Amino acid sequence: ESAADAIRRRIRTIPDFPKPGIQFRDITTLLLDPEGLRFAVEQMVASVEGPIDLVAGIEARGFVFAPAVALALGAGVLLVRKDGKLPGATIAEDYALEYGTDRITIHADACTPGARVLLVDDLIATGGTARAAVRLLRKAGATVTQAAFVIDLPDLGGADALRGDGITVRSLVAYE
Ligand code: 5GP
Repeated sequence: ESAADAIRRRIRTIPDFPKPGIQFRDITTLLLDPEGLRFAVEQMVASVEGPIDLVAGIEARGFVFAPAVALALGAGVLLVRKDGKLPGATIAEDYALEYGTDRITIHADACTPGARVLLVDDLIATGGTARAAVRLLRKAGATVTQAAFVIDLPDLGGADALRGDGITVRSLVAYE
């Protein structure tokens, strides 16, 4: 069994969530399985090149993987949160949704200029969230050149768009 297959068979697909027509890729079943969890984290860690100072996890499912990857890399964890959640002074970045916009934030002093930051999330679809996170981290002075995801939905073009932003993008499984 390949690494990708071992991870893929532990991911569950829920039809029509959160709305009709969406096939939601559910990683909670991967997390419940000790081998699945360990394997996913190990594969993400193995995909990273060079030293990393901070692993930036995107709320909420990115928060599950970021600390595990950071511990293995000897890095810290930087939380990329939805608007209104962080207690200190923040900087924000907006991004387009199908209808309307959304906003993510980080603490303004979360990273020192030039900090080498790895971006981590469970899934990349359109790339709207990850690309906004890269813009935000770069605005804070971070050096962001790598991103790791458990799942890529390549048909939605997010990974390619992120590559166009100068990011090396890695994912463990893809769903066409
Ligand atoms: P994007 O901004 O790339 O269109 O969407 C990616 C974000 O939405 C990620 O933060 C991810 O957690 C969430 N997301 C969208 N669709 C799914 C899905 O099918 N499964 C999971 N686990 N997360 C999803």
